[in-house]
Amino acid sequence: MKYPIKEILSNGFVMGTVKVLDSFEIIKKPKNKEDEKKQFLNSIDKSLNEINNMKDDSYLVIQRLMISDPTLKENGIKYIDEGKTAAEAINLVMEDVIKSLEESSSSYLKERANDIKDVTFRLISNLGNKKKQVYDKPYILYTDNLLPSYLINNKDYIIGVIAKSGGYTSHSAILCRSFDIPYVIADIECKDNDTICIDTRKNKIAVNPSFEDMERYIEEINSSKRFIKKAVLHPGFLFLANISSSHEIKNVLEYDFDGIGLFRTELIFMNSDRPLTFDEQFQIYSRVTHAMAERIVCFRTFDVGDDKKISYLNTNHKGFDNYLNNKEIFETQVKAMLAANLYSNVRIMFPMIETKKEFDYLREWVLRIAKENNYRKPLIGMMLETKNALINIKEFTNTDFISLGTNDLCSELYHIDRENRMNNFNEFIDDLLEKLKDVVDFCNKRDICLSVCGELASVKEVALRFYKLGIKNLSVSSSCIQMLNNCYTEFITNK
Ligand code: PEP
Ligand code: MG
Repeated sequence: MKYPIKEILSNGFVMGTVKVLDSFEIIKKPKNKEDEKKQFLNSIDKSLNEINNMKDDSYLVIQRLMISDPTLKENGIKYIDEGKTAAEAINLVMEDVIKSLEESSSSYLKERANDIKDVTFRLISNLGNKKKQVYDKPYILYTDNLLPSYLINNKDYIIGVIAKSGGYTSHSAILCRSFDIPYVIADIECKDNDTICIDTRKNKIAVNPSFEDMERYIEEINSSKRFIKKAVLHPGFLFLANISSSHEIKNVLEYDFDGIGLFRTELIFMNSDRPLTFDEQFQIYSRVTHAMAERIVCFRTFDVGDDKKISYLNTNHKGFDNYLNNKEIFETQVKAMLAANLYSNVRIMFPMIETKKEFDYLREWVLRIAKENNYRKPLIGMMLETKNALINIKEFTNTDFISLGTNDLCSELYHIDRENRMNNFNEFIDDLLEKLKDVVDFCNKRDICLSVCGELASVKEVALRFYKLGIKNLSVSSSCIQMLNNCYTEFITNK
């Protein structure tokens, strides 16, 4: 039986046996109240301990905060006093929080509901009511929602994931992309030990394929593995990676990228309910610059507003005003980026720039911070992702580099829904490339490094056209290395 994939959150082509992740059964009959309370409080301590002993940085912050929140204890004890079991009490407390998040219209907040489900899962599993499912052979996970902690704990055995729901910016999706595990959303029926093939190249899932199909899949998978995931030699071109956490560095180095073309730093901010301190940010940024050594590292200052809301930031729409309205947070972030400039390879990039005045203001601001604190001057550049900046590109004479944000640019120029941003590129790509000719000219004349970091750079046909237009630097998620290799090789061969 073949099923279509509804959404690809991480690419890949694998075949294996399914394990269905049961939801936790809750023991309904309370023992006695005091025992339930003891179990409940023990589970909180145990969960907190577990988290404190895990090395992964940002994504656990929200879990730690939730579990140490005194209202969890208060409300849980209240439910147990009313006659509920410890597990029921945990579920009831968390359900309210999840409900209020799921009702939110922000897709980002909706996806954070998964983190809370993760906390619930952790607390209930630490009550000791049910043996945890442990597998010691590779398997494809089938689940309602992929929880980040489950993924982290079992990543050595999970070779693919099919879930009923999940979003591209969720932690689980980000982690799957960095662990190179295919992760898809689909409506399929399957059970334990079914054989499944996930093929994101063809947008298909096969459940219990025929013997002939299975042989064919195995052959195809083996031949795709023969390609070593490493950048081909590409003199004069930059193969750059988009990342949103320091975990992704491992693959960036393994695949031999020339640097980080876009670090979406707001993702780190979104995992906290308070501004991150200088030290917390410095740790994350310097882990990246240290690992990348002399290669380029381009940090984008936090890009928030509209679909990316952060509770403790004063934001409305994406853009320049967010920095003026959150001056201290901007300054702390810039300081941490400058302090992490260990190899003088740091670039600082501003998103959503509309005018030269905005860019020059932010540039001066960063230079002032560097001077006042005795930090080295970084390269300072901008994302080109607004119509105004595109029209007036020749005014931006102070920028050291430009990175094209085709996601936002195409939303504004062609009213493309960001969620479906790549599907209909044929309708506008000719017009876009025509408009970009002036940008390429301008950058060539002034020797400004020009790259593309929007999702269009990872669509091979479009990437090829960027090369033909003279844009030699593309920044894509690290799992797209093979696409970059193929695209570059095709371009050079047909030149
Ligand atoms: C873009 O707009 O193309 C881009 C890379 O930025 P983001 O997707 O983070 O808005
Ligand atoms: Mg953008």
